[in-house]
Amino acid sequence: MKALAPPLTCTSTKMNLGLSDTLRWLDDIVLPHAPELARLAFFACLPHPLLTVARARLGDCGVGVGAQNCWFEGGAVTGEVSADLLAELGCRHVMLGHAERRRLFGEDDDLIARKVAAALDAGLVPLLCVGEDTRLGPEDAARHVVRQAAVLARLGAGRPSLVLYEPAWAIGGDHGASPGHAAHVLEALHTALGTAHTRFLYGGSVTPGTYTALRRAAPWDGVAVGRAAQDPGMLHEVTAEL
Ligand code: PGA
Repeated sequence: MKALAPPLTCTSTKMNLGLSDTLRWLDDIVLPHAPELARLAFFACLPHPLLTVARARLGDCGVGVGAQNCWFEGGAVTGEVSADLLAELGCRHVMLGHAERRRLFGEDDDLIARKVAAALDAGLVPLLCVGEDTRLGPEDAARHVVRQAAVLARLGAGRPSLVLYEPAWAIGGDHGASPGHAAHVLEALHTALGTAHTRFLYGGSVTPGTYTALRRAAPWDGVAVGRAAQDPGMLHEVTAEL
């Protein structure tokens, strides 16, 4: 199996940074590295109220802005943000089905499938997050993840999409999944979805060295960086490996 080149990376600031911290992060950490980040098609998934100001701050430096969630329709849906509106605001990507949304908001595969469909229809690239909640063996993890990603096999044909394999237990921890475990899951995802229009990232406690180790075992297309993206040295080291 061969990975599609070039590798790519992204981050989500979750709800960790407010307006001024986000602007400081863009100014101090992202913009100084914009050329290398742009080479990796880097995009930052931000809370909805920060999308416009971040878009303006980044200008045409090549770093993209994505959303962390969307709703699947417009109209009388108080408090939500549609995929169409995100596209209008200049987002190219929207993260869907993150483990925290599944856990905190009870999002299930049916709801996430409707969001994926809306994102594709709006011309956005969905970043579909999949991953087992608890520690499972590789076979069970692969089965679980393939079930979660099935929506892309149905809807994604011919349209670019990203799958982010992020075991819930690996998020915010000390260690990510082992390269062998992750390789098993990737192989199952490749078999289920093919590789023509879908690219596959690993996420969950990514630090320097993660991508190199993962790539020795399987052709990952990139990594999603969480906490490490807040640290200039770590972000630089992680991206230098890609
Ligand atoms: P982490 O975050 O790298 O800090 O574990 C992962 C994520 O949820 O995106």
